[in-house]
Amino acid sequence: MRLDITVLPGDGVGPEVTREAVRILRTVLDVYGYEASFEERAIGGVAIRQFGTPLPEPTARACTESHAVLLGAVGGPEFDSLPAGERPEAGLLGLRRALGGYANLRPAVAYGAIADCSPLRPEVVKGADVLIVRELLGGIYFGEPRGFSDASAPAAYNTMRYSVPEVERVAHVAFRQAQLRRRKVTSVDKANVLETSQLWRQTVTRVGREYPEVRLEHMYVDSCALRLITNPGSFDVIVTENLFGDILSDEAAVISGSLGMLASATIGGKVDLYEPVHGSAPDIAGAGVANPLGAIASAALLLRHSAGLEAGAQDIEDAIREVLDAGYRTADLNRGRAKRVVSTAEMGALVETAVADVADRRRAYHAV
Ligand code: NAD
Repeated sequence: MRLDITVLPGDGVGPEVTREAVRILRTVLDVYGYEASFEERAIGGVAIRQFGTPLPEPTARACTESHAVLLGAVGGPEFDSLPAGERPEAGLLGLRRALGGYANLRPAVAYGAIADCSPLRPEVVKGADVLIVRELLGGIYFGEPRGFSDASAPAAYNTMRYSVPEVERVAHVAFRQAQLRRRKVTSVDKANVLETSQLWRQTVTRVGREYPEVRLEHMYVDSCALRLITNPGSFDVIVTENLFGDILSDEAAVISGSLGMLASATIGGKVDLYEPVHGSAPDIAGAGVANPLGAIASAALLLRHSAGLEAGAQDIEDAIREVLDAGYRTADLNRGRAKRVVSTAEMGALVETAVADVADRRRAYHAV
């Protein structure tokens, strides 16, 4: 199999962490006999400097013609004075629109070795592994009508709107992911108040009948917000609409303990997009200290969703766990007990060695 990947390093720490993710991808794809091409393109601030626009046409074209897109991060203080439509972030929004993904996947994993990085108590986060599936193209962020009413009586309004097909397609994503995991879906809504949530609940229930082996529970968003920090281990897959997902996925980040650990995938459109959750971190850019594990975990998601290479995805996830278990930490994870605090590139090299070992062990296991 052949995989053409467009790489968009972007700004700040984006190029530093993306370099390590590409290094790991090359290693794993090689182990599994995949041919791969990595084409680097400009987006965000770097594209503004080079081409005068945050999403140059050749970048957009390369992305839509590839099998998957791996992005670092965009943005930086030098662009903050530009109008919103011309800033680096506009390039990312334009790219997301062009690719058309409707489901945003954000895993939040509590790694035992860095449980002390979470603001939650270790016994609360222990074993937590949640996948939030957020609907990305509908709901109140896009619903019409919206706006401000006339100035004589200042008021503003937005419209939360969902159609059955919009809910069905994201529900299928959640149930399919649950089949590969611990076979439980929690659908989150506010059906006691909102009609859109009543439609959401009915539709998810109906889709759920197609997956009898997956347990479905419904939960109000306020209960879910509470349970995410009191008992995160009780969740497997959470599926929810756009606004609730935006908030809950950030809340779930406390489980992992550092922004630098978090991965994401946006799937369902023409081409799927993989990126760490963090921004360009201008305060540490160029210092070689950024945590590349969120970008590397995003590469694992790329293998899972765009290459159908589940074993390779698991190899990367196991390798991340092994390196952390061995006591290596980037600066953001250091709580004084690290065996060694390592740089971005050193962390990438450690994961690369571990991933080759994990893949070898997997093949040896299958050979007996
Ligand atoms: P940020 O995520 O860049 O940084 C927040 C804090 O987390 C900083 O202290 C930073 O040093 C730290 N951090 C982030 N990533 C890290 C990593 N990999 N390792 C270690 N520490 C890390 O958010 P911000 O400071 O609000 O935004 C900075 C710029 O990034 C802004 O221009 C913003 O618009 C942009 N941004 C881009 C994206 C994206 O590209 N998807 C997302 C969020 C913010």
